[in-house]
Amino acid sequence: MAVRDDLGNLCDRRIRLNFIRIAKPVIDEWAALRYAQQVFGPYGICVAQGWGGYCAALSEADAKRLRYVEGDCQSEPASEEHDLLFSIKPRLSLPSDITVYCVQGIREAPKGSYLVGRQIAGCSVHPPGRPAVMIAATNYKWVLPHELGHVLLRSAGEGFPHSTDKNNVMYGTAADITGDPPVLNKYQAEAMRRSPYCHPC
Ligand SMILES: [Zn+2]
Repeated sequence: MAVRDDLGNLCDRRIRLNFIRIAKPVIDEWAALRYAQQVFGPYGICVAQGWGGYCAALSEADAKRLRYVEGDCQSEPASEEHDLLFSIKPRLSLPSDITVYCVQGIREAPKGSYLVGRQIAGCSVHPPGRPAVMIAATNYKWVLPHELGHVLLRSAGEGFPHSTDKNNVMYGTAADITGDPPVLNKYQAEAMRRSPYCHPC
């Protein structure tokens, strides 16, 4: 049975998000949800809010540690900040729900002679079987759908591919995406629809 999302897109698949606010986002959760719906809805994938978002109640020390989440965002979670972040779980969620952590900033692990890693707008690594993305407080509106795309592609067995097309939501630098909304190609859409986090509805 097909359903329609908030924007009127007709969908036969659905992904569900639970937002956790660690820091105040520049683009709020509802606007971010709408941008994700704009990207995935035309391919029959509805993006829905789960049980609602909430603000994480952190100790002062933990809030300071998570001001910038550090770690390698190419593979599995790999830092103490990642472990701390992923210990904050939605109060209610289904195993296939994707958790969206809104953080102040994300830094890659320091490389070579650089003592501080490069700042990035989003990250899609998560513990096995606990799908999640991190979104930094920026005004780049396609970061959430880009990171969700990584989670869907990787869980469909497609690895960590980026597109060279600036019109595509999986272009390597989400800040430089020009599509409005950006598109998926046929191969990406088919792979994302196969993800275990993308349910028939
Ligand atoms: Zn990416």
